[in-house]
Amino acid sequence: SDIALDKARGQQLSHESYMEGQEEQHLRQLMLIRDLRDAVTNSELWMAYQPKVDTHSGKVCQFEALMRWRHPTLGLVPPDEFIGLAERSGNISLLSSWMLAHVCEQLHHWKCADSHLSVAINLSASDLTDLTLPKRIKELVNHFNLTPDQLALEVTESTVMQDVDAATETLLALSQQGLKIAIDDYGTGYSSLAQLKRLPVDELKIDKSFVLKLDTQGEDLTIVRSTIEMAHNLGLKIVAEGVENSATAELLCKLQCDYLQGYWIAKPMPAEAVLGWLDDTPYPLLPSQATH
Ligand code: C2E
Ligand code: MG
Ligand code: MG
Ligand code: MG
Repeated sequence: SDIALDKARGQQLSHESYMEGQEEQHLRQLMLIRDLRDAVTNSELWMAYQPKVDTHSGKVCQFEALMRWRHPTLGLVPPDEFIGLAERSGNISLLSSWMLAHVCEQLHHWKCADSHLSVAINLSASDLTDLTLPKRIKELVNHFNLTPDQLALEVTESTVMQDVDAATETLLALSQQGLKIAIDDYGTGYSSLAQLKRLPVDELKIDKSFVLKLDTQGEDLTIVRSTIEMAHNLGLKIVAEGVENSATAELLCKLQCDYLQGYWIAKPMPAEAVLGWLDDTPYPLLPSQATH
């Protein structure tokens, strides 16, 4: 019948446009991989900084450095897209090296402006299997006249588990150098606590998927509450990312979460905005009802 024919045509069409979409996607990826190397030399990368607040004091305790790439024709490309491509195409160490030097230089500038800030950086799996990383970080810290506590690391469970032995060795060396280490996106990976316990971890950063709807989802509240308890019982600090409203911030303070990060406090901002933001932001940075 005509109806069946139309339906078949419709399916054919949607299949074709699906294929076109796939092809477009594939071309975009090839283009991004091709242009990644030039991104560094053409100054298309920069770092955005997002604050974390200590719930005990209501003060900013650290900023997280998040990479940004403005492609000359494609515009802003999200890191969730280009970091993975850089990892799979063998270009990530190029980006990580640039990022490390750039962040240390930025910390140096802030220090010259009389601000002793601390920044957490995100690392990829191949950064952790590079056994020269601790030495390179030590050299950068010395070169820019920083103290090791000004740098912290965020690694995900899957990043570590790709090569547990090498990652453990690298992280142990960095921890001995005085850098704090956080497990990022905690709760989304498959590692056991037994595995994590072997790592020199200081903090668990609970994934934003459990935090975004914390004020309305009872299940998330249960998960977050027990994660905080467990972390504390293991002597770990706990950070919540993705705090988007004051109700969530209040809940997390009641649950004794140590640090908060999210759009409710501030979105990631360019380095030039950081000192001004710190000056303009009223303290304490917590909902008025939250005390602990
Ligand atoms: P991540 O390290 O887990 O960073 C948290 C992400 O959540 C960031 O996305 C941040 O902008 C976003 N975010 C922060 N607060 C909120 C909030 O309240 N609500 C919502 N909906 N989102 C929030 P971004 O900047 O797009 O980064 C995505 C991921 O890319 C990062 O996840 C990290 O895994 C990776 N990445 C970023 N920069 C670097 C880097 O320099 N090196 C490596 N290896 N990975 C990086
Ligand atoms: Mg992170
Ligand atoms: Mg995260
Ligand atoms: Mg993430």
